[in-house]
Amino acid sequence: MSQSAAWRTHACGELRAEHIGQEVTLAGWVANRRDHGVVSFVDLRDRWGLLQLVADEDAPQTGHEGLQGLHPEDVIQVQGVVRARAEGQSNADRATGEVELLVSAVTVISRAARLPFEIAEHIDVPEDMLLRFRYLDMRRKPLKTALERRTQANHLIRQALVDEEFVEVETPMLTRSTPEGARDYLVPSRVRQGSWYALPQSPQIFKQLCMVGGLDRYFQIARCMRDEDLRADRQPEFTQLDMEMSFVDEEDVYALVERVMASLWKGLGRDELQLPLERMPHADAIRRFASDKPDLRNPIEIVDLAAQGGTLGFVVFDKVLEGGGYVRGIRVPGGASLSRKQIDSIEQAAKDAGAGGAAWCKVATDGPSGPLSRFLKAAEGDAPVDCPVGIAGLSVAGAAFLRELEALPGDLVVTIADQPRRALVALNAIRRRAGDLMDLTGGPDRLVWITEFPLFEQDDDGGFHPAHHPFTAPVSEDLALLEDESAKDRVRSRAYDLVLNGTELGSGSVRIHQRDIQQKLFAAIGLSPEVAEERFRFLLEAFRYGAPPHAGFAIGLDRLYGLLFEVASIRDVIAFPKTATATCPLTGAPSMVDAAQLEELGIVQSVPSETTT
Ligand code: ASP
Repeated sequence: MSQSAAWRTHACGELRAEHIGQEVTLAGWVANRRDHGVVSFVDLRDRWGLLQLVADEDAPQTGHEGLQGLHPEDVIQVQGVVRARAEGQSNADRATGEVELLVSAVTVISRAARLPFEIAEHIDVPEDMLLRFRYLDMRRKPLKTALERRTQANHLIRQALVDEEFVEVETPMLTRSTPEGARDYLVPSRVRQGSWYALPQSPQIFKQLCMVGGLDRYFQIARCMRDEDLRADRQPEFTQLDMEMSFVDEEDVYALVERVMASLWKGLGRDELQLPLERMPHADAIRRFASDKPDLRNPIEIVDLAAQGGTLGFVVFDKVLEGGGYVRGIRVPGGASLSRKQIDSIEQAAKDAGAGGAAWCKVATDGPSGPLSRFLKAAEGDAPVDCPVGIAGLSVAGAAFLRELEALPGDLVVTIADQPRRALVALNAIRRRAGDLMDLTGGPDRLVWITEFPLFEQDDDGGFHPAHHPFTAPVSEDLALLEDESAKDRVRSRAYDLVLNGTELGSGSVRIHQRDIQQKLFAAIGLSPEVAEERFRFLLEAFRYGAPPHAGFAIGLDRLYGLLFEVASIRDVIAFPKTATATCPLTGAPSMVDAAQLEELGIVQSVPSETTT
């Protein structure tokens, strides 16, 4: 790599045997110092690696004395000659391990105070501390490497899209509320007091306007801000790869996104993606996996047991079925080997998901065992049924129940009986938990498109809101249902998600490009024409001047990179992330502001400020 001549001739990490004999100037951080009598060693670090500096009696005085006065993380400049390490002293674990620098001069550029933690490979430091001193954490390999890989990945994406003639557009940060369904971050206007900007939840409307503007293909590596309750894989501000295309339908979007993903996978050295990617309609994903983001590496599928469950004489099942609920379950292949504690943890997963519990049994050749088994076995006096797969002692209903699950000796069966919404959440939870316990989630990446999402989701209070956002086109055969109040939950949309190993990577849709349909949609979600006009005038107006059919997609890059770089948290791929409570320990944001600032903005604060530092 080329270095600015001002401070150094080489990077520490680039020196190899081929440099032996060369006089070089280096600059970097003191990683550590070891003194052995008249010989001193220092490891000098820069972004590219570590190099051993040495000063001994052979070295001119400045070198030896200079090294001895150094402290960890001092920034220094050194001159010297690259030499081979002595016989037997090579360090095979280090790229520069064959050589060292015999130092002739040392200049201390900047002294380091005592550090809050060591800059070492393995450290045990609370995360808050790492975030507070993020610039020190950045000197460590994991974060530095993640940021380098992120650069490479962004570059691969940009390259792929520029090759396909996409135009990169930077859309405004200070804007109006965009409808992604989260709470907005608001910014007060000084010049128009009482008015507020919203930080964008996504560039959704702007990218649609770029299509009306005739750009045809847009992309942006865009920052999005959503004031949501945070979860492990969420940040209040995050980065999306945002795209939009004109004169396309979903097939074109799938193909484009697949090409971009394939170049990313290839560029990052992962196993080649098999294209085209799998697809699954939303309804199938829910039926088979109780999730709109199924991890397809886990082969366990949900089985509907309504017909068989109602004949077992199990009052819990009967009651739930009478109330219109679900009785569904899973078969865990080989799951009979799980311990009681492990099975309890599956049941606990159901409870954590809001269900009352889970009824289970182990299956063996001599019959089922466990809480559910007594409803499956033949009653005393009744002739037991011979199950074709060789499970003894079952009642007729019990055999039919296990047959529906395709249970085999050695399996574990877990069932959920609850009202539909809760049952699905619990089924998803037990399927995942069982998959983890049985180690079923290794194996190659499984990327899948989930298609035909419902257009609306029902709120707890019975109202409907757009499942994606209100610019998503309905499937044309379902258009007529839009105005039918009782059929709203059956309207399918042209929205799709991309799911990787059980994580939603991104979402998109074919958009509405007709003003009248857009207005119908607003009406269907309860926005009066006046409110819709007030909020989205700029989009509705644009649609009056010739709007092309268009569709798009956005991928959450932090989440994607977190998975691809195999780190524990998305914070590990973000240079300056926030904590789970949306604070920044480094800057102390959010923080109080001066009374004068508030006054200038015309804002009166009704709650006392909290100090955050
Ligand atoms: N704006 C959408 C989102 O952020 C993505 C899209 O529809 O393109 O989820």
